[in-house]
Amino acid sequence: MRIGILGAGQLGRMLALAGYPLAKTFVFYDMSGSPSAGLGEVIIDREGKYLDDFLSRVDRVTYEFEHLPVEVAEEISRSKPVYPGPRALQVCQNREAEKTLFGDLGIPTPQWRMANSADSLKAAAEELGCPVVAKSNTEGYDGKGQAVLRSPEDAAEAWQSIGHERLMVEKFVDFTREVSLIAVRGIDGEVDFYPMAENVHHEGILRYSIAPAPQLSPALEEKAGGYIRALLNELDYVGVLALELFETADGLVANEMAPRVHNSGHWTMEGAMTSQFENHIRAVAGHPLGNTAARGLSCMVNIIGEHGDIERIMELPYAHLHLYAKAERPGRKLGHVNVLADSYEELKWRVRNVAQFLPGSPEFDCSLTR
Ligand code: AMP
Repeated sequence: MRIGILGAGQLGRMLALAGYPLAKTFVFYDMSGSPSAGLGEVIIDREGKYLDDFLSRVDRVTYEFEHLPVEVAEEISRSKPVYPGPRALQVCQNREAEKTLFGDLGIPTPQWRMANSADSLKAAAEELGCPVVAKSNTEGYDGKGQAVLRSPEDAAEAWQSIGHERLMVEKFVDFTREVSLIAVRGIDGEVDFYPMAENVHHEGILRYSIAPAPQLSPALEEKAGGYIRALLNELDYVGVLALELFETADGLVANEMAPRVHNSGHWTMEGAMTSQFENHIRAVAGHPLGNTAARGLSCMVNIIGEHGDIERIMELPYAHLHLYAKAERPGRKLGHVNVLADSYEELKWRVRNVAQFLPGSPEFDCSLTR
């Protein structure tokens, strides 16, 4: 089976790496940017002239990033199956649509308002009570297009700095930690979940994911499972879906979802019986899903901006290195290291050993270290 991937970055690369052992072949299609997939034919189509050519070479289509124009996904779905379907893409591109869907399905969210001017931003901040987080309604990722308002008086400056015509304003959530749940749904509607991960962000970018999340109550995990199942079924979803949540003293609050394999699921490459990438390919290709159980305890350490002392990391017997073949640039995801261990104590010191060779890695500050 020939699978077309929209987008040609590291997620596409890792999807292909997981799909080749299942005898799939891959063609990548990207409308911009610098491809790093490097594992199949890449069609770069800045003017949108080669879509038909791409489609003639594939049997079905999936994507590795959600900022693809919905019209393109819809056009493709008229000639080839696209998984997940364009509606998932549409919801995930628009924070208002996403939070509205969460609300409709009974999934708790931070309180939110929409703002379309500096004045309405100020009014929303007054109504919700500061601090609030203002986020561009569309096109935001990795904390970009966001500002925290400590007081309604910050509205004019925040409006200027974000520079979007429509913002979502959210009450700032006093969370104890950030967690995520990755699930996969097959073409026949079968649903499987990975153990949840605890995620540590720094400057808006994911730095560490620990899975299974330490000391997560089974009741919370079950709640999160119910939320994601509702989303998967409502969207008649096929493939991997990631749901990011805040854990608070009062339970879970949903932040956002991503209709694709997700950085907080990279630990599954060595840390689970079947990786999120293989399971996405299995789902898209219509196969039975693979076992999502963890093999032990894992932590994924992202390599951001600079490669650091890769050779020293490769000397560590418990470190699994994945590089994306990208050039160094501040804030850019260049690779990750999966660390496995038999106890959280062991995991903690192994992660610190890895992080010391990665300049700019923030301190490993998580529920294990507090
Ligand atoms: P997002 O792009 O919405 O995932 O936001 C990026 C990061 O900003 C999240 O991972 C959180 O660390 C933080 N953040 C976003 N929204 C909120 C909120 N309502 N309350 C507290 N922190 C937030």
